[in-house]
Amino acid sequence: MSSKRRPLKALGQNFLVDGNIIEKIISSADVHPEDCVLEIGPGRGALTEILAQRAGRLILIEFDHALAAGLKRRYADDPRVTVIDGDVLAVDLAEILSEAESWKVVANLPYNISTAVLFRLQEIRSKLSRMILMLQKEVGDRLVAPPDCKDYGVTTVLLGLWFDMRREFLVHPGCFHPSPKVDSAVLRFVPLSAPRVAVGNEEVFRRVVKGSFGMRRKTLINCLKATELVPGDELQQILDDCGIDGKRRGETLTLDEFAALSRRFSVVNA
Ligand code: SAM
Repeated sequence: MSSKRRPLKALGQNFLVDGNIIEKIISSADVHPEDCVLEIGPGRGALTEILAQRAGRLILIEFDHALAAGLKRRYADDPRVTVIDGDVLAVDLAEILSEAESWKVVANLPYNISTAVLFRLQEIRSKLSRMILMLQKEVGDRLVAPPDCKDYGVTTVLLGLWFDMRREFLVHPGCFHPSPKVDSAVLRFVPLSAPRVAVGNEEVFRRVVKGSFGMRRKTLINCLKATELVPGDELQQILDDCGIDGKRRGETLTLDEFAALSRRFSVVNA
């Protein structure tokens, strides 16, 4: 499907034009006739065209009204394809996916909202079997980074609790029109049926992780004090009990160490 209108930068419209990359994304998604697939941001339909041929059911969510209207016209005679003209961050994803047990998600995400989309998808992880997502390379690097590496951060830990994540391949800017200023990467996400490690209260876990990375030049104990999750005088004891030196930097903690702190903080905040 083509559209003469100029791509909209504000909507992250960098359309895939490289047939090899399109095929590699689709084969990573491993789509079969029994699969239900959600595509976020189908745009001009580069991935959609093949997904519609291979999937048993396809739901598209596109925020650009003109592009959504074009897709609706294109798939008007195909009852397996539904086009939702809406904002993926505003629609009720759980409701949209309620018709089937398990979905694959395929998307070349608009980079300006990719992290927000990842957290929305994390909320509905129990409905998902696999996600193949194109992200800005830098965002992808963060997701798969090991502790104590410059890319390791909040998203690595929070999403790593619920997903196996691995990079499939890199994508050069020349594979898109217009070319983005950054490199891209396609990642595979497989949701876990239970968190990788018990964390107690998940909201407490999020606050521990965000607080620990909040002030990168401060020690862990000072970062944790600032979260006000536990009284200052109990903090040292909790760190000692967990075998964690409070003088470390937050970014050196492993997921297991964040989880150990979170379990203890959850008891205090019960
Ligand atoms: N899938 C197409 C491709 O690979 O060529 C387009 C990918 S382009 C990087 C991102 C797409 O997401 C655009 O079509 C854009 O209009 C759409 N989009 C941007 N923000 C969105 C939002 N909040 N909800 C749904 N779609 C959005």
